[in-house]
Amino acid sequence: MKLIENYDSVSEIKSVLEINGFGMSKRFGQNFLMSPGAREKIINLLDASPEAKIWEIGPGLGAMTHMLINYFDALTVFEIDYGFIRYLEEAFGSEKGFRIISGDFVKTWKASAQEEGVPDRILGNLPYNSASAIISVLIENNCIPAGMVITVQKEMAQRMTASPGSKNYSSFSMLCQYVFTIKNMGDLKAGSFYPSPDVTSTIITLKPHGLYPGVNSELYFRVIRDLFQSRRKQIRNNLTRGWTGKNIPWATVAMALKLSDISPDDRGENIPVSSIAEFVQYLDS
Ligand code: SAM
Repeated sequence: MKLIENYDSVSEIKSVLEINGFGMSKRFGQNFLMSPGAREKIINLLDASPEAKIWEIGPGLGAMTHMLINYFDALTVFEIDYGFIRYLEEAFGSEKGFRIISGDFVKTWKASAQEEGVPDRILGNLPYNSASAIISVLIENNCIPAGMVITVQKEMAQRMTASPGSKNYSSFSMLCQYVFTIKNMGDLKAGSFYPSPDVTSTIITLKPHGLYPGVNSELYFRVIRDLFQSRRKQIRNNLTRGWTGKNIPWATVAMALKLSDISPDDRGENIPVSSIAEFVQYLDS
């Protein structure tokens, strides 16, 4: 198999793809990060020492991997594309502390977490189609590293960092902000990738804030799903029709809303995470 020597060269990547017979799949969001400055920035943002256990999601042909492997002692990468997996085996398979997990990260992460424990850091230039599923599965299963550095579509970064009352604030914002402080670290133009995607990407960092230790997370996840069942509906209607209303008497729900200072006539899009966390605690007590 022909291996890449210069990850900054589009013509070399093209020829490696061609000679090895690799197709590029839109479905798997395959765009390689060609900008050396952006790669360097992502590595620096990891802010981790060499002993840190690292997970990389979607290594592709190793644009990030070849840098990570030089610095970190333990690197596990998760890749879905079998051609790329064969490539990664050949290029990096003999390196100490390197593991490849093949398949869909959303399904494979759990066995790795059980075997290796939760990693210290997770990074990835995430495939656009599966980014929200990947982030959700980690949060909903409490697989929370001390830091994450990911690249996502700009619009997704806006949803993850949105404030209550803004048009981008959604149940996904409430899910991410429940666990993480999320910072926008800058956009990457389409031209930073090969092939160039139709969208702009944003690098974000996620650090757990530990603000809601006593909250029943499962109940919190159910409540935020209910709150955005229908975006324009009032909290009363969404909660009544959702899991909450079907499983908890309305008098209890109404009291918990009152105690946490949330009006049932308001909409989910206006309520901060801290108020929902408080509401869930009253609901659960
Ligand atoms: N990290 C490489 C880079 O920066 O050049 C490639 C990034 S590319 C945007 C996304 C990568 O994720 C591809 O290699 C793709 O095959 C892989 N991928 C897509 N869906 C995946 C999934 N569900 N689980 C694991 N890998 C996935």
